[in-house]
Amino acid sequence: MTKKLRIATLGIHHETNTFASNKTTMAEFRHSGLQTYAVQRGQQYYDMHEKSQTSMSGFIQAAKKHSFELVPLIFAATDPAGTISAEVFNTLGGEALDMLRDQGPFDGVLLNQMGAAVSEEYPDMDGELARWVREIVGPDVPVAMTLDLHANISQQMANETDALVIYKTNPHTDAVPRALDACDLIVRMAQENWRPAKWLEQPPMVIGIFQHDTRDMPMRAVMDDLETVLAQSGIVGASIGEGYPWSDVHENGLACYVLHEDSLEEAKRAARWIADRAWANREVLYEPVGPSPSEAVENALKSAATKPDGSGPIVLLDVGDNIGAGSSGDSTFLLAEAVKQGSKSWLQTIRDPQAIAVCLEAGIGETVTVEIGGKTDSLHGRPVQLTGHITRMSDGRFEDTGTVHAGWRYFDGGTTIVLETEEGPTVALVTTRVGNMSREQFYSLGYRPDDFDIVVAKGVVSPRPAYQPIAYEMITVNTPGATSADMSTFDYKHVRKSLYPLDPNARYVHD
Ligand SMILES: [Zn+2]
Repeated sequence: MTKKLRIATLGIHHETNTFASNKTTMAEFRHSGLQTYAVQRGQQYYDMHEKSQTSMSGFIQAAKKHSFELVPLIFAATDPAGTISAEVFNTLGGEALDMLRDQGPFDGVLLNQMGAAVSEEYPDMDGELARWVREIVGPDVPVAMTLDLHANISQQMANETDALVIYKTNPHTDAVPRALDACDLIVRMAQENWRPAKWLEQPPMVIGIFQHDTRDMPMRAVMDDLETVLAQSGIVGASIGEGYPWSDVHENGLACYVLHEDSLEEAKRAARWIADRAWANREVLYEPVGPSPSEAVENALKSAATKPDGSGPIVLLDVGDNIGAGSSGDSTFLLAEAVKQGSKSWLQTIRDPQAIAVCLEAGIGETVTVEIGGKTDSLHGRPVQLTGHITRMSDGRFEDTGTVHAGWRYFDGGTTIVLETEEGPTVALVTTRVGNMSREQFYSLGYRPDDFDIVVAKGVVSPRPAYQPIAYEMITVNTPGATSADMSTFDYKHVRKSLYPLDPNARYVHD
């Protein structure tokens, strides 16, 4: 009987918006809106994912399928936000490596990464972690890294690992099958002492956030090309990195990555075929299209006035305050328009601990006049003064067992207050920047988004699995903010010299 493989897993999972003013410090890794424990060690890392739909859940299923021993070391994940402090990476990365060294030897390592992490010291934090891991385990132990589709893939990430495996769906609903793919590869590498030939191709282009939904054109065509390549003989894996536009790093942009059974030339040819076809379509793959806040609210009110009775809400997707991409969660551009244009049936969240403190002081059932939102920085509009009746107070925890972006299950919005305002909107004031990707966020407070005319979801794609099933209409709004769709509004310093659309004349040449 062959010896049972021992495979370790660890991860520091973060999407870093280097333009966001809210830095990611140890405090953010003590409390996360995405999971009950921001840092999970050993058995807790196992237990918190076993019944979720995350990458780790896929590793757990694969360990049963291939009967390997999965050794959970440490997993740290917190909400997307600004640059990670040096202390965080040195502390958590250091702890991860100590565990890897002390609990080894291992037959393989599964890195559970998001792929767009930037620390003060390391702009390519994911690649740096892979390099550290490689230094410990040496060249002979296979290392695979699972990644979110929004990863910015670096050459270092490709060099220091034996396989990168990226989600293929956005909204992200395939973390489990992709993790199973990664485990199929790592088990074969460990058992057969085989390594695939790998090629990373990075055409100098950025996919605009309006185009990120993989179910819709034009991104659908890129994913179809990926499937074409995956069906070719000899190809043992292939992934697309859509990229994460708000990280000011060298590797910002589209990545095409192919694994071939044994031929580097074939891996390169396939990756370049996908890249060439995406490049030819770069203009439509970027264009920031969508109504302004005032146009969107006007359109939504018109639509609400004529939609049939019993139909669901019009959902406004707030692109510039995309919490899942690191924004502040307190943008008021849409709320201000709701008040100005007189919407009387409107539901949304705003992150505002200061307004919450005022409400806590007043108490449930009371009426307060407070300045709401627009407090984190100058990118997200001005505070809006509203007078409202305090109807609910909650600890902000909720659970979603349905289909949720990236498979998260246990959420924690921190102290939450609901205000029904005299001006019209109903606002859930939250403490944590938890994304609007679950309707349970409102159901748990006793509110049904289904019954409102207009609901705001701060995000672009991640709210869609939650809201598409009930929405009468969804409008993607071109709001300003830390996650604006328009890249020209940011001052990029570290991206590649010639990157489309920042350089409209960018050229992509290869032999
Ligand atoms: Zn993502």
